[in-house]
Amino acid sequence: MVDLGGQYKKIKPEVDRAIQEVIDTTSFINGPAVKRFQQSLEDYLGVKHVIPCGNGTDALQVALMALNLQPGDEVITTSFTFIATAEVIALLRLTPVLVDVEPDTFNIDPAAVEKAITPRTKAIIPVHLFGQPADMHAIIQIADKHGLYIVEDTAQAIGADYTCPESGRTKKVGTWGNIGCTSFFPSKNLGAFGDGGAIFTNDGELAAQMRVVVNHGMKVRYYHDYVGVNSRLDSIQAAILDIKLKHLDEYATARQKAAAFYNDAFAGQPKIKTPSTAPGRTHVFHQYTLVLEDVDREGLMKHLAEKGIASAVYYPVPLHLQKAYLDPRYKQGDFPVTEKLSHSVISLPMHTELTEEIQKTITGAVLEFVG
Ligand SMILES: *Cc1c(COP(=O)(O)O)cnc(C)c1O
Repeated sequence: MVDLGGQYKKIKPEVDRAIQEVIDTTSFINGPAVKRFQQSLEDYLGVKHVIPCGNGTDALQVALMALNLQPGDEVITTSFTFIATAEVIALLRLTPVLVDVEPDTFNIDPAAVEKAITPRTKAIIPVHLFGQPADMHAIIQIADKHGLYIVEDTAQAIGADYTCPESGRTKKVGTWGNIGCTSFFPSKNLGAFGDGGAIFTNDGELAAQMRVVVNHGMKVRYYHDYVGVNSRLDSIQAAILDIKLKHLDEYATARQKAAAFYNDAFAGQPKIKTPSTAPGRTHVFHQYTLVLEDVDREGLMKHLAEKGIASAVYYPVPLHLQKAYLDPRYKQGDFPVTEKLSHSVISLPMHTELTEEIQKTITGAVLEFVG
């Protein structure tokens, strides 16, 4: 699905030098490379505070911990996402409240969010799924009206822009809500050579609190005012990320170009619905995901695999039907859009190293099967 080797080759001298520099200085934890990357990311995102951390799941957990919520408080999120989003809510003994998504963007449906609000609702976690920003204007309006926090899950959409239809203002996703969270898992759009994550906010108080939480709840060394966690981005990863961040926009352009090629190839095939991008949003195509109508998905995947072509289903089981998250509040049929998508989506290889030749082989094989 990705070509991390091809991407590395193009920046190998720079990356190797940066790794060696960290090794030479032996500043493996909280070294100057971490501070440098933190500042580069603050500048890139146009946000006041970036707090690097261990991974994207930690980022979400730390964000929720900083909001000082109480057990049983409700956090609304989408039923169609990677499990991490709901996992951290459950781990903190908060109550995940799931809602359905929009059929065209696969993102959380603001109307469904509004319907799910109760007096115990404290926060909303929109996920910018597959690289496309969620409807932040509508979500911010709802949050403002009901006094809710917004924690954006930007793990799949770092670098994507969202333009507010009212003010015309354009900002990066992850900087519209109170807190943004991202992941540097190797296959993400800004991927490290291991685990990594970051949290961002313009709120100085929340930033200070999150810096304490990621560091064992400690402000003064060995004095622990809060129960915290240990979540750090290591210096080698930070040094690599600082180099890759300079290429992030060019990586997004390569992904968008590949998406356009796929879109053109599938345009005339009524059984294949290509991804649509809502107005005022840039799609950075973490995934290129089709919706199939009346196509044997397993058969197609097998057909592709036989030709050496990767494909994947993100995600085959909606959150409310996951065994660990089964809950009497929810049953099959509650989230019809999510459930339909989970049966009909398929993602094709999407990365920065796709050539037209590779893409022709992929689209040819898909069209051959779909007929
Ligand atoms: C990858 C991902 C995460 C978790 O990030 P990790 O770094 O793997 O912990 C969270 N949310 C979404 C939507 C993701 O895609």
